[in-house]
Amino acid sequence: MQKYQYDYLIVGAGLFGAIFAYEANKKGKKVLVIDKRNHKGGNIHCEETEGINIHKYGAHIFHTSNKEVWDYVNQFVEFNRFTNSPMANYKGKLYNLPFNMNTFYQLWGVKTPDEAKAKIDEQRKAYANIEPENLEEQALFLGGNDIYNTLIKGYTEKQWGRSATKIPAFIIKRLPFRFTFDNNYFNDLYQGIPIGGYNKLIEGLLEGVEIKTNINYFDQKSELDKLANKVLYTGKIDEFFECKFGNLEYRSLHFETEILDSEDYQGNAVVNYTEKEVPYTRILEHKHFEFGTQKKTVVTKEYPHEFSKDNEPYYPINDSNNDNLFNQYKDLTTAISNKYLFGGRLADYKYYDMDDTIEAALKLVKQTL
Ligand code: UDP
Repeated sequence: MQKYQYDYLIVGAGLFGAIFAYEANKKGKKVLVIDKRNHKGGNIHCEETEGINIHKYGAHIFHTSNKEVWDYVNQFVEFNRFTNSPMANYKGKLYNLPFNMNTFYQLWGVKTPDEAKAKIDEQRKAYANIEPENLEEQALFLGGNDIYNTLIKGYTEKQWGRSATKIPAFIIKRLPFRFTFDNNYFNDLYQGIPIGGYNKLIEGLLEGVEIKTNINYFDQKSELDKLANKVLYTGKIDEFFECKFGNLEYRSLHFETEILDSEDYQGNAVVNYTEKEVPYTRILEHKHFEFGTQKKTVVTKEYPHEFSKDNEPYYPINDSNNDNLFNQYKDLTTAISNKYLFGGRLADYKYYDMDDTIEAALKLVKQTL
């Protein structure tokens, strides 16, 4: 029998890879984690500037209703009481998100849930009998014209770089409607930001695990594969198969970060800019994720961007063409499943929140370890 140096080679030191590495290491397996970036943590990695943890790859707000997942992350780090309550700025006027009584008051001056429901019914009357087939129809069906035009259409079309009629409806189902004065963006039972930042979570997961950064798997795939009995690949699935059926589409982002000589720029962690004419979708003010009291502040403008091989694949575009293409790649994984495992946002080609990623990783752990 061939002797391997490692039981597992894990390609990608993001959340999925780190959880698998932690569990494998705990069971006495020998693990090597590699990542092409110069740091571990994937997109939850933070960089400290002016004593503030900067969410370098966009805002990450941990939320889940799964107690097992919540207890799992709390083994490694305590979470603060941050509650995501983004504001929306549309043509200079501010609105609360998600759509709740505060928003309805700001839009229409309605003061009670009954008044708000009557207003929304009137707004969506024309769409009440449609069967929504895309995001625009879904949004009109749920809330009617004013909400759609003020808070959804511009943001969505710049975020995805296409007409809202070409975007799958499920994306907007993420946005809750509420008839209480509650600005919590999420409905989940548990929410927060790791105290001291996300790097603590990753450091806890990867403690005692061998890790090599700045290594591109594809530059030396056959040598690397020979090191381990099994390989867990968490990168883009199409790239693993040399894109032989074609490229999966993604939406990318571009960030502009500035240090400002002021204590507070916008009084909130996240402000969305929902009109199409403003080129960025949101401004993050990082200190507010951790209730920071530093003298300076750091803000990041988030610009949606076309995906190409030179920038990061952030959002999978789960329309039917891409999902079909993904399934073709997925089918190829069965024949090689004795050597290769796949998982995470890029290998599963799914719009995962962090808790989804953890659930998926723990499932794979249960199946394989
Ligand atoms: N969205 C919107 N207006 C907003 C915020 C979000 O229309 O002010 C829509 C948009 O289509 C977006 C989707 O909701 O793609 C999900 O947004 P969310 O901020 O929940 O997702 P994230 O980009 O943080 O994963």
